[in-house]
Amino acid sequence: MICKLSDKQLVAGIKIKVKEEKLIVAEVLNYLEEIDKRKVFVDYGTPSLFKFCTRILKYSDAEAAIRVKTIRAIKVAPIIKQKIQDGSLNLTTAASIDSFFKNNRDQNKDKIVEKVCGRSTTEVKNILNSLSKNPPPRELKITLPEHLLKKLEKVGLDFDDCSELEVIECLIDKYIEQIEHDKAKRTSTKQSKNQRYIPREVRESVDKRANNRCEGFSPITGKRCTSRVNLQYDHQHPISLGGDSSAQNIRKLCFGCNQRAAVKAIGAEKMMQRGSATLSPGVEYYLEKTDIGLQYSFIPPGN
Ligand SMILES: [Zn+2]
Repeated sequence: MICKLSDKQLVAGIKIKVKEEKLIVAEVLNYLEEIDKRKVFVDYGTPSLFKFCTRILKYSDAEAAIRVKTIRAIKVAPIIKQKIQDGSLNLTTAASIDSFFKNNRDQNKDKIVEKVCGRSTTEVKNILNSLSKNPPPRELKITLPEHLLKKLEKVGLDFDDCSELEVIECLIDKYIEQIEHDKAKRTSTKQSKNQRYIPREVRESVDKRANNRCEGFSPITGKRCTSRVNLQYDHQHPISLGGDSSAQNIRKLCFGCNQRAAVKAIGAEKMMQRGSATLSPGVEYYLEKTDIGLQYSFIPPGN
């Protein structure tokens, strides 16, 4: 019974528990790292590790974001995991290091980690700011007025469980797609000799079929992937194995489903050797309700 412990025993006890807690956090990171490596989250109908953390593991958006950032930081500087395990580095600092690395690729990673170990959040911020050679990545924060939020909610009904920002991104993607489509129509109609070239008619037919949504299916739930961002054309039966560029063989997949398909085809190890290809190019984000309205926090794109 905790209430029967002396003050001294209480403090000694919590020190032991915190030590155990840090070991468990490091273990959780090990699991998440392997799940990310194999892209298993795709099979569970979640197109990214972030969404797997929120939907399947029931982490809050902020909790998931900090873990995903930590996993990315560990990929760049594996020493971070050991520092988390021994308690000299917390997840908030690891996430800050991730943002710093992305903007300062040429710095000595291990040295940076050593510099911020055991420091407070404010100290970490100041240290990283003083070491940064580049300005921070661009970020736009907008507060939407009520009438725009209502319009967004109306449009959002067609987008399943997409967040407001995902809906905005989809609409912008659709607009860009239309511009490029019109441009392609105006310019050359010559076909490329590249075997991987997908003719315009095929792309149009696949776009119509996919209806701006990933065509991947989860083998666990049997449900179609709900992702509408970062959609890419994929040769279901690879060209190298005799596949062609017909509409039957082309499908539209989100980055996660595309990566999972590649892991299944060539294995996680080979995918890891490809390096940057295993990191999502997409912008992850989560919504925060603040006292000044809806605000989005970003996990910037991977390296
Ligand atoms: Zn997908």
